[in-house]
Amino acid sequence: MSVGYDDNNIFAKILRGEIPCKKVHEDEHTLAFEDIAPAAPVHTLVIPKGKYVSVTDFAARASDAEIGALIRAIGKVAALKGVEDPGYRLLSNIGREGGQVVPHLHFHILGGRALGPMLVK
Ligand code: 5GP
Repeated sequence: MSVGYDDNNIFAKILRGEIPCKKVHEDEHTLAFEDIAPAAPVHTLVIPKGKYVSVTDFAARASDAEIGALIRAIGKVAALKGVEDPGYRLLSNIGREGGQVVPHLHFHILGGRALGPMLVK
């Protein structure tokens, strides 16, 4: 059971195979797929298979194996997408003020062009 987790969020549906995704990587604990509305030439999402709302939730409840797998998957996907050099941005929006839209933990891997400043001031 997972308090506050919405089983009907879009990434839960992707994980259950109810809606398709363009898969980039999968292992026991993680799935990576292309963002449906890319904000950069490379825009891939990496998510845990477990029911976690955010990084905060993940840090509190996930096993060491899940946490390790997610970080390793991010490294793997960055290499697969060829963005390690010249570089990329790793981003996770959390909650309302963080701009999170989908309430299942995800990391955005953004790259393929110079991304400019981190935030609009
Ligand atoms: P957030 O704003 O929550 O950090 O990011 C959610 C991301 O999920 C957005 O970049 C959005 O384009 C992406 N997204 C939303 N719905 C879908 C979907 O059905 N499939 C895929 N592949 N990406 C989605």
